[in-house]
Amino acid sequence: MTFLNLGLSNPIVQAIEDSGYNAPTPIQTQAIPIVLSGKDLIATAQTGTGKTAAFVLPILENFNQERTLRGKRIRALILTPTRELAVQVAASVAMYSTHLNLTSMAVYGGVNAEPQKERLIEGIDILVATPGRLLDLAHQRALHFDELEVLVLDEADRMVDMGFGEEIRKIIDRLPDARQNLLFSATMSDDVRALAEGFSDSKMSTPA
Ligand code: AMP
Repeated sequence: MTFLNLGLSNPIVQAIEDSGYNAPTPIQTQAIPIVLSGKDLIATAQTGTGKTAAFVLPILENFNQERTLRGKRIRALILTPTRELAVQVAASVAMYSTHLNLTSMAVYGGVNAEPQKERLIEGIDILVATPGRLLDLAHQRALHFDELEVLVLDEADRMVDMGFGEEIRKIIDRLPDARQNLLFSATMSDDVRALAEGFSDSKMSTPA
């Protein structure tokens, strides 16, 4: 299997080659076609399996295909449990979108919100965020979700363990109903499944 066979186009495959990857990992082979199709996905996946690229690459592909004129609105929201993961996922998004005309950034707590708000005003396609700071910024009307197309819950079990369940529900309440939902979790529990309530199901799991 190659990234080209999975349906990714040249600017994205080029960025993957720049990253030094030779072939897709099992989770990438399974998840990329589902995400490209626009379906929801609930996936059991451990860190280190290549799960970040499994959702980022097809999101980039779908956005790059759709060259509609649009406002400066967020098209994809990726929620992560920690600042470190937000920074790491945003770095992956930036790397994989090197040859694309798409913007991305990470917002997280523990730092001044003003520089984050200033960048958001410029218009961001893909936002990676921790739940608390995201809600703060939303309450300050620094975020607009009316054109949101994709929600990703990354490391959903850690977000539940850290007590972010209620915040995630409040965030989801602010998003358009017509959107694609992707949930990645190392473990599945009733609490994690409850977060995905209302997501339609393409379930998959990959070995660690
Ligand atoms: P993740 O599971 O998303 O935390 O990714 C784990 C590591 O695997 C990261 O350092 C990625 O850069 C790397 N990686 C992702 N996809 C591939 C691939 N297809 N081939 C080799 N390495 C990869």
